[in-house]
Amino acid sequence: MSDTRHTKVLIIGSGPAGYTAGVYASRAMLEPILVQGIEPGGQLTTTTEVENYPGFTEVQGPDLMIKMQEHAQAMGCEIIGDIITSLDTTQRPFVAKGDSGKTYTADAVILATGARAKWLGLESEDKFKGFGVSACATCDGFFYRGQEIVVIGGGNTAVEEALFLTNFASKVTLVHRRDELRAEKILQDRLMKNEKIETLWFHELEEVYGSDSPLGVEGIKVKHTTTGEIRDIPAKGVFVAIGHAPASELVADVLETHNGGYIKVTPGTTETSIPGIFAAGDLTDHKYRQAVTSAGMGCMAALDAERFLATQE
Ligand code: FAD
Ligand code: NAP
Repeated sequence: MSDTRHTKVLIIGSGPAGYTAGVYASRAMLEPILVQGIEPGGQLTTTTEVENYPGFTEVQGPDLMIKMQEHAQAMGCEIIGDIITSLDTTQRPFVAKGDSGKTYTADAVILATGARAKWLGLESEDKFKGFGVSACATCDGFFYRGQEIVVIGGGNTAVEEALFLTNFASKVTLVHRRDELRAEKILQDRLMKNEKIETLWFHELEEVYGSDSPLGVEGIKVKHTTTGEIRDIPAKGVFVAIGHAPASELVADVLETHNGGYIKVTPGTTETSIPGIFAAGDLTDHKYRQAVTSAGMGCMAALDAERFLATQE
């Protein structure tokens, strides 16, 4: 088989935005190719219950993403397990290179590369990553049965992770830098009612400490945000849940970005600063960052691409 594939629409990313773009672009007979990236299904594959995706009172994140993938495939979208390592926007058709060695040429591109977990950037956090420090409770929570765990952050992810981790941990301490959570009220309510969770307000992670051989976490030092007082919390697991940053590295040098790397689109559309390149989902959205809004933008991107291609004919 040739190592170069041409498509009218190349969709990069397999979260709600990518798969929805796949459904719509397929139904527009554009025969799209969707490249899944390193995380097939996107961020929702790292969570358990999703309770706010319309049509599902409750659905497991990974199950929802399999349904979306099957939907896109059923409509005719070709789905490829590859990672795009570069995108040349100076040529027409656009040229994307895959980690597999394949080249993809496309008349239009829909960027749906979403967002990735942020880290605090501490040396000790880095040292114990994968050895007690994690950013994914559903992936790693199981390893901490009967142990004490800390979660850092105050958004939906932090609260959901803290709640989920009570399934395994003897105690979960949520450490937040303010005394107010960003998380939805329904999640806050569940957090406050959970007897296994203690919330430590006005504290920031200062250091993760542990043993070197074998490498493993024993606890953390946290600092009070106003008094500066240092406190020690014993823990075997540290879950960092301080938000997500857009995965815009493929195009950050060539497309206009704003609010810390989010791809700028013309308001009310998914058009980027380069005609023929569209962006959808968390990659463009510093404000809502929900599965349903990402799916909505995926739909818009496919419709925008269809109109763009019609003007090129
Ligand atoms: P993502 O889901 O981030 O997917 C990005 C995709 O791009 C991935 O498939 C990745 O592999 C791919 N990709 C990245 N780079 C490349 C590349 N170079 N080449 C090819 N592919 C690439 N939202 C809700 O509405 N309800 C919830 O209950 C909910 N729970 C959540 C729980 C957690 C733990 C997290 C982290 C988020 C949660 N969210 C929830 C937010 C929701 O997951 C996101 O808003 C949504 O997934 C964004 O969709 P997306 O398609 O923009 O990107
Ligand atoms: P988020 O909403 O941006 O929250 C990040 C949290 O981390 C905030 O509480 C923030 O504190 C804290 N934080 C950030 N930087 C920090 C630092 N350097 N040190 C200490 N604390 C820090 O991120 P998120 O919770 O990952 O959510 C991302 C998006 O996904 C949101 O739109 C969210 O609604 C969505 N999501 C939805 C669901 C759901 O619907 N159930 C579940 C998960 C995620 P401050 O509050 O002080 O800024």
